[in-house]
Amino acid sequence: MRIYLDHNATTPVRSEVADAMAATLREGFGNPSSVHAEGAAARAAVERARESLAALVGCTPREVLFTAGATEANNTALGPWLQSLAGERRHVVSSNVEHPSVEEPLAALERSGWRVTRVPVAADGLLDPAAVAAAIRPDTVLVTLLWANNETGVVQPMARLAELVRERGVPLHADATQCLGKLPVDLQRTGLAALSLSAHKLGGPKGVGALVVRAEPAFEPLLRGGPQERRRRGGTENVPGIVGLGVAAALAARELPLRALETARLRDGLWDGIAAKIPRARRNGSATHVLCNTLNVEFADVAGELLLQALDLEGIAVSAGAACASGAIEPSHVLLAMGRSPRQARAALRFSLGHGVDDGQIERVLTRLPDLVERVRAAGDA
Ligand code: PMP
Repeated sequence: MRIYLDHNATTPVRSEVADAMAATLREGFGNPSSVHAEGAAARAAVERARESLAALVGCTPREVLFTAGATEANNTALGPWLQSLAGERRHVVSSNVEHPSVEEPLAALERSGWRVTRVPVAADGLLDPAAVAAAIRPDTVLVTLLWANNETGVVQPMARLAELVRERGVPLHADATQCLGKLPVDLQRTGLAALSLSAHKLGGPKGVGALVVRAEPAFEPLLRGGPQERRRRGGTENVPGIVGLGVAAALAARELPLRALETARLRDGLWDGIAAKIPRARRNGSATHVLCNTLNVEFADVAGELLLQALDLEGIAVSAGAACASGAIEPSHVLLAMGRSPRQARAALRFSLGHGVDDGQIERVLTRLPDLVERVRAAGDA
């Protein structure tokens, strides 16, 4: 049996989700825009999913705009939605640890004449809310921030950030992709203007997500076409995917408080074991403002990619603090932003837990890991 500790990359699809999607594929094939009974049934399924997701994130169903995932949600927020708010202004505030699906649209805005201020994080990965507020200028249209970091799990103080940003009269968009099912997300209570999310990070299918954003005023669609999604996204709805997201959201809402505690207990056990058994292991990022499921560890003088491969051969799936870009292993921009050197950043591994992980699996990892770290250190190509 393999041990899957890469839930921040993607999660296994929950069986309740797969069952609901299979039933939709087989029987619920109607087009939600059709007026006949088949169409009406598909429309009803989409609207049930919208209500389920709205209940999880504290918004009204009208505020849910289904997309093909968080990348599209972020591109919509930083594209047509941003443009609809801009008027003559051309400035955005963000951070230096954003996901590429925010960073790349920001870079594109800069190429077209916009200005972007990227507020730096501290060594623990946290933003100083006062520094974010201070970066707001008279021409600032939007603040966009990653709520919980996919690599380190560091959770920004979003309520405080939203309060300070709102005081300056600027809307705040949060990429909440890694938060759902792991911590309470409430758009209204937090005072956010918009948030992005993705189904495949919470036991749902890939290729479906949402931008949660006020329904009015309307903005130009990113995908022009039919009048779907209140004219904010053309294209026939991904009905099975949306149904899967709805079921995953309902499961998350029901299970969240207990599951978060249990996941944190397992994660803490993993870290305690690593700290006790493996010399020169260092935890990256805040240990208090962190997702319940994420542990990012730097193993000094280890090539993270080699350790990842050694673990994979032992049946254990984790992720490295580095991305392979065109054959070259690039150190994580998130760890560099937190002051780690490229060599240190390449020595990091991310363990991300989730549904299906148990004590026995954590024990097995702790049995195998010390020896593998020693072997990779001895190989000496860090
Ligand atoms: N934002 C964050 C924080 C993510 O972790 C991811 C997925 N890696 C995305 C956005 C993109 O989501 P999707 O795969 O649904 O496009």
